[in-house]
Amino acid sequence: MAAFTDRLGTMEAEGSASRQGSSGVEVVLPPDPATPAPLCPHGPTLLFVKVSQGKEETRRFYACSACRDRKDCNFFQWEDEKLSGARLAAREALNRRCQPPLSRVQCVERYVKFIELPLSQRKFCQTCQQLLLPDDWEKHCEHQALGDISIAQLKRPSQLLYPLENKKTHAQYLFADRSCQFLVDLLSTLGFRRVLCVGTPRLHELIRLKASGDKKSNMKSLLLDIDFRYSQFYMEDSFCHYNMFNHHFFDGQAALAVCRTFLQEDKGEGVIMVTDPPFGGLVEPLAVTFKKLIAMWKEGQSQDNKELPIFWIFPYFFESRICQFFPSFCMLDYQVDYDNHALYKHGKTGRKQSPVRIFTNIPPNKIILPVEEGYRFCPLCQRYVSLENQHCEHCNFCTSKDGRKWNHCFLCKKCVKPSWIHCSICNHCALPDHSCKGSKDGCFICGELDHKRGTCPRISTSKKVNKAVRKQKQRKSNKMKMETTKGQSMNHTSVTRKKKRRERAHQYLCS
Ligand code: SAH
Ligand code: ZN
Ligand code: ZN
Ligand code: ZN
Ligand code: ZN
Repeated sequence: MAAFTDRLGTMEAEGSASRQGSSGVEVVLPPDPATPAPLCPHGPTLLFVKVSQGKEETRRFYACSACRDRKDCNFFQWEDEKLSGARLAAREALNRRCQPPLSRVQCVERYVKFIELPLSQRKFCQTCQQLLLPDDWEKHCEHQALGDISIAQLKRPSQLLYPLENKKTHAQYLFADRSCQFLVDLLSTLGFRRVLCVGTPRLHELIRLKASGDKKSNMKSLLLDIDFRYSQFYMEDSFCHYNMFNHHFFDGQAALAVCRTFLQEDKGEGVIMVTDPPFGGLVEPLAVTFKKLIAMWKEGQSQDNKELPIFWIFPYFFESRICQFFPSFCMLDYQVDYDNHALYKHGKTGRKQSPVRIFTNIPPNKIILPVEEGYRFCPLCQRYVSLENQHCEHCNFCTSKDGRKWNHCFLCKKCVKPSWIHCSICNHCALPDHSCKGSKDGCFICGELDHKRGTCPRISTSKKVNKAVRKQKQRKSNKMKMETTKGQSMNHTSVTRKKKRRERAHQYLCS
């Protein structure tokens, strides 16, 4: 997807110039098994197609599955492009050069040496994000290093490492303590003994901390993550360097076997998969990957009518996309909070409520949400919901998705966001300041009349998310602007304008 964002950028520029070149990039799944995708340093690439004005262009291309920024991986190849032997060789050399400097086995050897060192010799280079053995000190002497690394610190690598901040590719949003504790307690209440953590390093670490501190808890965890830095802290059986967009194990068959053994232990009983993928990621390739992990678990099953229990943590506005791929999933009302994400904090503190939810195939009546965090049981829906989420007698459901009270519209025959009103021109509910103009023309992208551009099934999800993220950034900067002007009185019109802008951004996120 490296080429992809660049291309998206270009396409958007084109789009705004002509105001009709609105286009997206879609992933083509599943690619023809007879023609394996070329490899980039992140494993098999994905096949993409550019879609403009609802028409697929005929020329498809391969790009990196994991990176959406050209700076991180600039792989690009037309589907029908023939590469010369020299170029193929150069590519293979590059792929080899881009692999982590140490093998998985070497990392484990280093770790074992490290924990045997006396405290005073245990150093961590913050510049290189690396544990140092005495032999390495000289090379890092100009770098910023932490000394006296305790065993307790080694057990919490997510606090020692900087969260990766690359906006587009590997942005890491770590769970706030409250949410992480809630998840671990929930997993243990539900009786799980093994947790496959896909992109959830902090959950992995808390499960292991609890297991080592408490004899009763014997929960095991295996982390699969693309962040190679974690391999310094875990043995082979508790971390695999993995790409969840193409189910690629960087350390080959040995790592794949670790994952398979973990899933199939105890005939596959007592295991759950928990995943918190980057939100900018495409839903389709993730769904394909999770189906592969499910299949791996199923190989070891005796009866095949059961499903692998899954928690997929993702923003609520992906509900229909996720349920499209996993019809048995439902969305819990629990708001997942993050440490390093200013926007995604729990509502009760007065800040913006987190839009991130848990999607699961576990019956929601089995999942107790904490009353002290503002959840209640709805006997009619047979599930826990947030206090503000009221049961609508017409819809016969607790309809709110975003934690606010929604209102029933009798004309639309459904509940809608509190900020929406029914528009007789558009014949559905919308924000008061929406423009009715577009409605007659239907969708901006495909021309269909029953939906708008924002919900167009043809537009790539990632593009919507990119948009959403941009809007969020805008909202954040608005907020900062508002905070810097605090104390000065702000005139009413500018406040309403900002509020409207924020609501529009919100609408985009939620539509
Ligand atoms: N909330 C989680 C972290 C989620 S952030 C926690 O606190 O444990 C997303 C995670 O997915 C990060 O750890 C990141 O390294 C990982 N990730 C990002 N892209 C990935 C990919 N292509 N394959 C596997 N893991 C990926
Ligand atoms: Zn260093
Ligand atoms: Zn209703
Ligand atoms: Zn309405
Ligand atoms: Zn459309």
